[in-house]
Amino acid sequence: MSVRVRFAPSPTGALHIGGVRTALYNYLFARQQGGKFLLRIEDTDQNRFVPGAEDYIIESLKWVGLIPDEGVGFGGDYGPYRQSDRKAIYQKYALDLVERGHAYYAFDTPEDLEALRQKEANFTYNQFTRSSLVNSLTLSESELRARLEAGTPYVVRLKVEPDVEIRIRDLIRGEVVFHSSEVDDKVLLKADGMPTYHLANIIDDHLMEITHVIRGEEWLPSTAHHVLLYQGFGWADTMPQFAHLPLILKPVGNGKLSKRDGAKFGMPVFPLDWVGATEEDRFPGFREAGFLPQAVVNFLALLGWHPGGDQELFSIEELISAFSIEHISKSGARFDFEKAKWFNQKYIQASAPEYLAGLIKPLAETKGYSVSAAFLLQVVALMKERVTFLPDFIEQGYYLFERVREYDTETVQKKWTANTAVLFSDMMRFLEQIEPFEATNLEASVKQFVQEQGVKPGDVLPLLRIALAGTMKGPAVFDMAVALGREETLARLQLFVNTFNR
Ligand code: GLU
Repeated sequence: MSVRVRFAPSPTGALHIGGVRTALYNYLFARQQGGKFLLRIEDTDQNRFVPGAEDYIIESLKWVGLIPDEGVGFGGDYGPYRQSDRKAIYQKYALDLVERGHAYYAFDTPEDLEALRQKEANFTYNQFTRSSLVNSLTLSESELRARLEAGTPYVVRLKVEPDVEIRIRDLIRGEVVFHSSEVDDKVLLKADGMPTYHLANIIDDHLMEITHVIRGEEWLPSTAHHVLLYQGFGWADTMPQFAHLPLILKPVGNGKLSKRDGAKFGMPVFPLDWVGATEEDRFPGFREAGFLPQAVVNFLALLGWHPGGDQELFSIEELISAFSIEHISKSGARFDFEKAKWFNQKYIQASAPEYLAGLIKPLAETKGYSVSAAFLLQVVALMKERVTFLPDFIEQGYYLFERVREYDTETVQKKWTANTAVLFSDMMRFLEQIEPFEATNLEASVKQFVQEQGVKPGDVLPLLRIALAGTMKGPAVFDMAVALGREETLARLQLFVNTFNR
């Protein structure tokens, strides 16, 4: 049977970066096995539905290059792939499960249940309590019929049998055993006719012929219910295999990485910027922070998985061929943002200049710089080894796009002598003539010129660099001069002399 896996997010807000990792592992597994990767939108919980979240999920997958073979927005033969478009399917199966004796109608009102919870703090609807509640197991045949005919609201609940062991063979965790006494009679169909996550998820995985369920560890306890549902429907033979992924942990301290950790540790925990309805519901994304999607993919792939050995940089093709569920770890993976930055630097350094120039062009334009493609290629060449994020090309290297905003006056004061202004005037005349205006030639000729004036290059070149860039940091001075061009170089030298010659 060919592999079919799915990524099944709920559109309840921005997609957490951990969700992107889940999608990635599903994608890698599908590609490696020559199978299919599906996107199913699990939007049955109308109360938690957030407009824009579905588009955000799709855009995020596209940005990191995890393109589903089937799913909402991608077509396919097993649709519809949005659960709210499948409502009728779930109702039919829920009633079928009642017929088969593995589910029942429950008429207890939300108020009744709330009152019970008030009396008993950890009240649960289960095999021990259901015999004293209002449901099709306790009502007489005629009472039941009367209620159904009168249209009394009901929910459908899973009927968990007493004293059975539920065994799950998890591909990452090995055998996990639950006892049915710990498993409650979950609601499957709500009073409004909508299915719960559990019911819809199982029916869809079955109908969409899913072979492997690869999802976050937080779903492991639910899997006990899911196994009972497969058995109840008579689908145990084709039940998918399960693989529950380790948690993603905070960079330091204990616990799961949360959306609030982004602000706390000054890093994004979402793939793209998210702008929700309220001030608190706004979060920065990896894309807007200036990450390359390939770096994010590589970083996420190693967050809980490693094939052994010490290779860290993997192209997507290498990930596909090296990936295996057996090498996913059981324990949580720390979200190390410094590592993410390291990957980004490596990927920027390894990227083609044309590709980077294309990415920084819109960033330059937003700042109001109008620049040629050729100039951007020069900027890329000068800055590529120095930046961590894409906007650094423009922000750290701003002096390539506009005049110096601030000079390193401390260094200027140390190096400036009574002779400097005259020396600069002579050097400007020299630079006006020099041919070709090209880095190697400039370096050799200017050094020689300076020495002929009886000055050490080490006393003048720092000033030249500060005149062009304002700072002692940054690319080599003659490379900058070439990128700026002869005219702009001369203009900046003049400005520099005017500023300090007082
Ligand atoms: N809708 C669930 C979620 O939001 C899917 C869990 C699963 O993959 O079964 O994570």
